[in-house]
Amino acid sequence: MTDQSAPRPAIFLDRDGTLIEDPGYLADPARVRLLPGVATALISLQRAGYLRFVVTNQSGIGQGHYPQAAFEATQRELERQLGEAGASLDATYCCPHTPDAGCPCRKPGTALHREAIASFDVDIARSWCVGDQIRDLEPAVELGCRALLVRTGQGARHAAAAAAMAALVAADLAAGAALLSRYI
Ligand SMILES: [Mg+2]
Ligand SMILES: [Zn+2]
Repeated sequence: MTDQSAPRPAIFLDRDGTLIEDPGYLADPARVRLLPGVATALISLQRAGYLRFVVTNQSGIGQGHYPQAAFEATQRELERQLGEAGASLDATYCCPHTPDAGCPCRKPGTALHREAIASFDVDIARSWCVGDQIRDLEPAVELGCRALLVRTGQGARHAAAAAAMAALVAADLAAGAALLSRYI
């Protein structure tokens, strides 16, 4: 049982390679493939009281590989597939800028995380940054939360660096969710 009036811990989730397969610049709803166990993991995180946010770098928009509308259609398909499995997200935040734009929202920047924190009652010390790259985890240092690397997507080659920054490392989001349930 969770107290709805109290601040809740949050999971700041990367999208590509963490929730869904990452073919590179994915912007086609027909190619959205949930990684195994992701829906079940999100359900168990929700039951444990975590807010679930997606924070995603989509430089393909700024680089002109695909329009914002294609990102949004892809996002709707992701949420449809999650919904079909009984899982849900609380909000999604996207950086559309190019890597050289110097924006504050591209991870490892924390502007999108802070937008979520401003909109929801987040218990940051009990929250987690989760992803398959170090830049997904780095915001945890500045935000004062914890970090978990998943070995899906590009995660396997970031595992040593994640361990060096004292992040947890899990095989995938399902294994990660099981680990996090010990910490809440
Ligand atoms: Mg990723
Ligand atoms: Zn940005």
